[in-house]
Amino acid sequence: MYWMRRWSVRHARALEITYNAVERCLIAAAPLFRKIGDERLEKPVAAVEKVIKGALFDCQMCGQCILSSTGMSCPMNCPKGIRNGPCGGVRADGYCEVKPEMRCVWVEGWDGARRMKKGSQIQTVQFAVDHRLKGHSSWLRVVREHVAATAAPLSANTETPAQSSASPTKRTP
Ligand code: SF4
Repeated sequence: MYWMRRWSVRHARALEITYNAVERCLIAAAPLFRKIGDERLEKPVAAVEKVIKGALFDCQMCGQCILSSTGMSCPMNCPKGIRNGPCGGVRADGYCEVKPEMRCVWVEGWDGARRMKKGSQIQTVQFAVDHRLKGHSSWLRVVREHVAATAAPLSANTETPAQSSASPTKRTP
């Protein structure tokens, strides 16, 4: 919902705090996730993530969430799918050249980033989206990346595209 998406940007700081708490919980639950198994978790967790983030951000489930680096404005709602700032077609009033009724997701993102403690992350250059990850859970990806960085893999014998693809970015609600 467009109005909800804009609400999320206006409350980017509160969502940043909430996300940090959620991330800590997810990482704390990593041993449990490992026991249950990555493959079993993927579908249900992705379904929950889709509902929650779909309502808050119009999430397109790209599988490599960068909301914490884009002022809580989902870049996948850009009609051109640009993940590194606005194109040259933003209208003088901040609206999209392709969808004149929609504010540019990057104009929104800049507003959101200014409200966030770590808003300067909006200046981080992002890799192009990896379409192999579409539909996968970014939440589980956060756990996988944490586990990979600190110890053994979440699941020894299951490798998903999310595991096999290195990412320059991490984290997000
Ligand atoms: S997972 Fe991807 S599509 Fe969904 S909110 Fe994050 S950046 Fe947007």
